[in-house]
Amino acid sequence: MANQEENLKNIIGHAKEYGFVFPSSEIYDGLSAAYDYGPLGSELKNNIKQYWWKAMVQMHENIVGIDASIFMHPTTWKASGHTDAFNDPLIDNKDSKKRYRADVLVEDWVVKIEAKINKEVTKAAKRFGEAFNEAEFRATNPRVTANQEKIDSAENRFKTAMDADNLEDVRQLIVDLEIADPVSGSRNWTDVRQFNLMFSTEMGAMADGASTIYLRPETAQGIFVNFLNVQKTSRLKIPFGIAQIGKAFRNEIIARQFIFRMREFEQMEMQFFVRPGEEMKWYEYWKEARMEWHLALGIPEEKYKFHDHLKMAHYANAATDIEFDFPFGFKELEGIHSRTDFDLKQHEKHSGKKLQYFDPELNESYVPYVIETSIGLDRMFLAILSNSIKNEQLEDGSSRVVMRIPNFLAPCKAAIMPLTKKDGLPEKAREILKTLQMDFNCQYDEKDSIGKRYRRQDAIGTPISITVDHDSLEDNSVTIRDRDTMQQERVAIADLSSILFNKLKLK
Ligand code: ATP
Repeated sequence: MANQEENLKNIIGHAKEYGFVFPSSEIYDGLSAAYDYGPLGSELKNNIKQYWWKAMVQMHENIVGIDASIFMHPTTWKASGHTDAFNDPLIDNKDSKKRYRADVLVEDWVVKIEAKINKEVTKAAKRFGEAFNEAEFRATNPRVTANQEKIDSAENRFKTAMDADNLEDVRQLIVDLEIADPVSGSRNWTDVRQFNLMFSTEMGAMADGASTIYLRPETAQGIFVNFLNVQKTSRLKIPFGIAQIGKAFRNEIIARQFIFRMREFEQMEMQFFVRPGEEMKWYEYWKEARMEWHLALGIPEEKYKFHDHLKMAHYANAATDIEFDFPFGFKELEGIHSRTDFDLKQHEKHSGKKLQYFDPELNESYVPYVIETSIGLDRMFLAILSNSIKNEQLEDGSSRVVMRIPNFLAPCKAAIMPLTKKDGLPEKAREILKTLQMDFNCQYDEKDSIGKRYRRQDAIGTPISITVDHDSLEDNSVTIRDRDTMQQERVAIADLSSILFNKLKLK
């Protein structure tokens, strides 16, 4: 645990020191759960967006993008269920005065019991060696089955209580499971209350006509209300998708863990419209496709896993999370939901407008079913950052901090460095910069020794450093150094552009 905290602290420190992420309004001691992206952070964020947009929109003939407004007609949220049901069950500890989400307390308890089971399995695997049959062991070992029964019964009881809005029993479950405040160890809990996560504000002049509107808590509704506009203008045939990247706002009960849980954040969402009855096929398709998108980054597979949520959102009939192994353990990075025809039907009901698709092959109109993929841009940013920052011991006994970020996501692609600040080397370096900066985000760096400059570029993940020396003036060649291997190579200036293209392209 101490190690995990240390690790997160290092990431936050690194992000601040190199201009990736700053606390919001820091000169006023910051604002909880709000962060600002600095020069390198905004580059990285843009690159992640581009990777998602390319994969989702440009590489699919049947997926198009939109950019809807944050403010929407207030009835939108009545129809979508957010006004009445976008709640989290909150509970306070009377001794520590800390506030928690009741569902998260139960989930963390489940993870603890699962860890006990896994420990038994690992022990047995060692004892039995090659002959070990894990499935049989899990099904028959009395300690394992007893713990599994405990989990199943707690999960069932939680789900039943939530479905029936029986908050007293949610509290009783926490008491019965002997769940203690993770900070203080106290079991002195208040009642469980529902808390709506939407931010509200007034639109227009404050006079009588002013009406309460909400900052959108998800980008999805902007897609649903535009469903027919987009389908008709883009002449799309089912199955098709509409994608969007944009800000969302949630008044989260607890906002810890850096940019993992913010009150203002960014989502990359895609709603895929399908024939009723075909949703499970497409749900499976998108589960696989989204995992492939993640793995294409070259981040180890064991950092990801699927997790079916205990508490299904009010609109879903199947839901899974892609979890990532963050510095504080496996947590949701992306959600994939089968949203049925809930949203479109609700908007039909509340607007009085038909939101149906005429299927020429079936010769009938229907309200499509929807599969949603929804990933938090900020969480993806944290996943990339936490997986890339490495403290490496080098052969010569020294060490370096390096960001081993996938090259095509690197905020700065190449650093151009004159060996010295005189003899025409800066001019030559700037000439090279000019030829590259149209296609690649580059930095010009002439300060400090070349070794220090390399370290600085390593720390921000720049894939290539280009050094201009006295020979460059004669032979029009430069030395390039690779961030990961630290190998150096002499190349012609005329080849730099194609070398960079090859090194940076997404495979
Ligand atoms: P959690 O259970 O962690 O609160 P959620 O299940 O409410 O998340 P969704 O409603 O499925 O989240 O939202 C889709 C995605 O948006 C999430 O997978 C996550 O990446 C991102 N997201 C949601 N809430 C936040 C937040 N407060 N800060 C940053 N990203 C968020």
